This record gives sequence, structure tokens and C-alpha cells, in this order.
Amino acid sequence: MKSITRSFSETARSFSLVIGSMSKDSVLVINCGSSSLKFAVINPKTEEESISGIAERLVGNEASITWKLNGEKQTLNLGAAGHEGAIEALVGVLRENNLMERIEAIGHRVVHGGEKFTESTLINDEVIQGIEDCNHLAPLHNPAHLLGIRACMKYFPGLPQSVVFDTAFHQTMPAESYLYAVPYSLYKEHGLRRYGMHGTSYRYVSKTAAEMLGLDYDNSAILVAHLGNGASACAVKNGKSVDTTMGLTPLEGLVMGTRSGDIDPNVFSFLNKQCGYSLDEITDILNKKSGLLGLSEMDNDCRVIEDAAAQGNERAQLTLDVFCNVLAKKLAGFASELGRIDALVFTGGIGENSSVIRKNVLERLSIFGFEIDEKANEETFRGKSGVITKPGSTVAMVVATNEELMIARDTEALIAG
Ligand code: ADP
Repeated sequence: MKSITRSFSETARSFSLVIGSMSKDSVLVINCGSSSLKFAVINPKTEEESISGIAERLVGNEASITWKLNGEKQTLNLGAAGHEGAIEALVGVLRENNLMERIEAIGHRVVHGGEKFTESTLINDEVIQGIEDCNHLAPLHNPAHLLGIRACMKYFPGLPQSVVFDTAFHQTMPAESYLYAVPYSLYKEHGLRRYGMHGTSYRYVSKTAAEMLGLDYDNSAILVAHLGNGASACAVKNGKSVDTTMGLTPLEGLVMGTRSGDIDPNVFSFLNKQCGYSLDEITDILNKKSGLLGLSEMDNDCRVIEDAAAQGNERAQLTLDVFCNVLAKKLAGFASELGRIDALVFTGGIGENSSVIRKNVLERLSIFGFEIDEKANEETFRGKSGVITKPGSTVAMVVATNEELMIARDTEALIAG
């Protein structure tokens, strides 16, 4: 892959808007974080991704935008760009590559829609206000999404825009799944409840799994483990989320790259009283210094830990075992909520690539009738989807997630009315 770095002015000079004969067939998908902005232009029908990339370091003076087009990677330095500058630069990149004419709408990933948003929706003033109203539930994410949305309104005037929420898919959870056993008034007055994340991935992966297996999605019982740097699991019954592991925030549930997942809530007062850590310090420890990283004292990347375990490092093996034990226990609990298991689906960077983790988890769940097909398990990685259990076994499989495609599909459906 070639890599080219240019200055902003150089590219600005070469902005010659060549109107091609292309029709409007694609959606610009935007995933705006607090200091970065990921983007992709996707045709929801053909699933073709014509360009993808990321603008990074948007807070500070060293912002840049990198994009991949036709297998070639290019980077442009943006200086002190901010989110608005990044969108302006993106418009330049799209124009230069004759992609502006192909964009029929913009779809934004939004992390938190609270209880207000149960599905994807087109953006208007009321929707913007609704996202703002959820800022306290995702203080790092929602304000950044709004920056991206407002910048797109400025630089893509007239283009319809939609929002696709990570939380929306889980709004079908029954109260017995989403309520914490704390004073009910905290839920009613402050919205303290389980919301869950990764909803767009669960929707895509569970539907795709049902299609691949020839299941009736509306009469199915599917467990999904979305295992990336952030990890969660979900019970999907008849196409609807009935339970999930992430909670009010993405800290709850499974062991993750740097997040602890479930712990005794009294850890807060213990660490405060025993070690003198402040609230912010404890929050930082549990979110950024725990999980695979904290336990292994090596790395948050599962590959590093797997390699060390394969070379006989006992702590690395223990870390993997804790990760898999927590996951297996959650999945077993979800199985009781589903009543049966039509399929267990692995997805996300770890779920799609780690045969070691999948094998470890399936062995712990043998009580449910999982019998791993070692060869299929070993051969399923890097975006490949397929069944990894033997004929006659309860089905476990891998489905490569594609949240961007789901956002593009939702957006197209919304503009089609
Ligand atoms: P995010 O939550 O950031 O979207 P991803 O879904 O991209 O995360 O997953 C990233 C993680 O996937 C990496 O941190 C790494 O732990 C894991 N991963 C990627 N490839 C492999 C592999 N071959 N074996 C084990 N783990 C892998």
C-alpha cells in the first residue's frame, strides 16, 4: 500500500470539481469521537466502500486526515482543524476524488440515545435537542457527535442526515433486564438503568447469522458476543435484544481491553479508603488500566497476551481464562433468558480473529451442546464468516460485523421513506 503525505494548501489548489456521470447511490457514514472522526462512503445496495478514513488529533495543532482509496493511503496535515476543519477537509477530499456527486445522504453513529430513541431517525431540530438531552449519559461521545452533525449541516447543506444509535437496539429489553436494584427514584428521576451499547453491530450480526443459517429471524434465539477492545454480549430473541452486558456506561459486563467489566461496586469506597484514590482516579483505573491490560500487566491487545500464553507465560494464560470465564458465565445466563440457543455468534476484532478465545469459551459452554470444529475454527479469521462447530452440535459461528454498512442501510431506508 502506497502512503502519500501532502500539505493542506497543495490539496486545496488541486480541488477541481470534475462533475462525473455518477449517480447518487452512496451514503457518507460519519463516526465522530471526541478527538477523531472516522468516515466511509458506502453504497448500501452493492456494499461497495469507495473511500474510508479517519481525521485524528482534532484537539490540538497537529490534526491530520488519512483516507484509503483504491488501495492507496494518503494523509493530509490539517494543523489546528477541530471537527469543523476536519469536515471541511473531508469535503475537499471527496470533491477531489469525484465522490461528492455520489453522496445522497449522511448517516451519523451516535453512542447514546437514552430512552428517547428506539430506532434510527432523520435529523431535525428536535432530534438534535434529544441527543443533547442525552449528553450526561455519554459526556465524551454525544457532544462530539453533535459537533460532527453541525459541521456536516454547514458543509453539506441540503443533504439529508440521519442518526443511528448504539443504544437503540436494546430499547426492547424488558424492565427486568434493564433495571438495577437501586432506589427506583434514581431510575425515574435520573435515568439510572442499563442501556447497553454495540446495538448497531448486534442488529447487523444477528440478522446476518439468521440469514446464513436459514432461520426465521422473527422466531429465533441468538446469542452474540461482540469482542473488541470494548466488549459486550447480547441475547437476541425473535430479532429483539432482551438482555445485554453493558450498562449505564460501557464499563459494565465483560472483561475488556482496558476496562474491568463487572466488579463489586464497593471497590470505589475500598480504593478510596485503602489507597487514597479519588473518584476520578478510580474511574480512570477501572476504565483505562484494568481488563486485559491490568490483569496481564502486558498489553490491552489480545494478540500480545495470546502469544505470551502460547510461550508458557502463566499470567497471560490466567488473563485469557478470566476473560473467557466471565464471558461464558454471561452467555450461560443469557441462554436461560432465551430458552434455547439457535446460534452463538462471535464478532468484533477478537471474536472474528481469535480461534483461541472462541475455543476456550465453547469448551466452557459444552453443557449447551457445543462441539467445536477445530479446523473451521482455525480457518475463520480476517473478515471471514462461517460456522465453527461440528454437524449435530449447537451452532457457534463467526459473523464479521459491519456497523458502517448498517448505518448506510438505515440512512437509505429513511430517505426512501
Ligand atoms: P474496537 O472495540 O476498538 O472497535 P475491534 O473490534 O477493532 O475493537 O478489536 C480490536 C481488538 O481485536 C484488538 O485490540 C485485539 O485485541 C483484537 N484482535 C485483532 N486481531 C486479533 C487476533 N488475530 N487474535 C486475537 N485478537 C485479535
